[in-house]
Amino acid sequence: MVTVELENVTKSFENFRLEVSLKVKDGELLTLLGPSGCGKTTTLRIIAGLESPDSGRVLFDGDDVTSKKPYERNVGFVFQDYALFPHMTVYENIAFGLKVRKIPRGEIERKVKEAIKLVGLEGLENRYPEQLSGGQQQRVALARALVVEPDILLLDEPLSNLDARVRERLRREIRRIQREVGITTVYVTHDQVEAMAISDRIALMNFGKIEQVGEPLDLYLNPKSEFVARFLGDGNLLEARVHDGKAKIGSLEFNISTSSKKVKIFFRPEHVEIGEGDAARVVDYEIIPGRVKVYLEVDNITILAERPLEEIEKIRKGAKVGIKIRRFIVL
Ligand code: ATP
Repeated sequence: MVTVELENVTKSFENFRLEVSLKVKDGELLTLLGPSGCGKTTTLRIIAGLESPDSGRVLFDGDDVTSKKPYERNVGFVFQDYALFPHMTVYENIAFGLKVRKIPRGEIERKVKEAIKLVGLEGLENRYPEQLSGGQQQRVALARALVVEPDILLLDEPLSNLDARVRERLRREIRRIQREVGITTVYVTHDQVEAMAISDRIALMNFGKIEQVGEPLDLYLNPKSEFVARFLGDGNLLEARVHDGKAKIGSLEFNISTSSKKVKIFFRPEHVEIGEGDAARVVDYEIIPGRVKVYLEVDNITILAERPLEEIEKIRKGAKVGIKIRRFIVL
């Protein structure tokens, strides 16, 4: 069991500067989430020892490992492109790290068997990577990383090359396996849905910095910046004028406490309730699985609402409706 700390770690490239401090708790799955080029992979590589920071320290369980080589750190790494040995079978791929470590043959057999069971690859031991689907190949990569019992598991976009259905299934599998093994894990993805589904906590990155760290729901409901709010899903961000403790956007009013004259109000589409009234007009709507997205107009401002599909009966194009914002934040 291990904690991972990045203490004032910096790394500069020509047009990029990474600056992170972060603590990953023992046994948790923390996701580095952010747009392409924000520094997720570089951060992961610094934890693995594949990249050395310009300044700052990397600590495993409080021990400074900054100058240690990757093989001295006992981390397991899973990459986006599986990186299996093509000329080795599933069994041989998984056994490889144990052979290198000169583990006795009987023990290798036992451990490989266990790993194969853990990732659900029974019966495929003698296949070669090219005879496997992408999802199966990634299971091999995961088993290969875990079989040597690393202290820390690092996963860099492990699901990006897979199609949607396989991605969802393997996402749940990775979560199950991670919990079962109880291994401290850092997971990199640019996909906010994946991050929300799989993480104990998310560190959302932007331009080489961590914008906010927290549990998925907390980040979703209480973003501290416009960037975090927008990155985690659809939302309405509207400028409001403040009068007598109320922020006003056309005929909509929000009770807030601020001394500013202007604020930005942010609310998620599912927090817009639609009922009887005439404050808003339905401009358009779209059906998505189980839900309906409704484009509303309030005093020339467009507002996006998202409602359970059952409510579609209330929604007709051009109809006047009443709306209520059930939850909002001031950004
Ligand atoms: P992606 O999701 O696209 O992989 P990322 O968030 O993982 O993005 P990084 O791969 O960490 O981002 O890259 C961060 C920035 O550092 C990018 O601008 C990248 O071009 C740059 N960079 C990374 N490695 C090097 C390198 N070895 N030399 C020069 N620039 C680099």
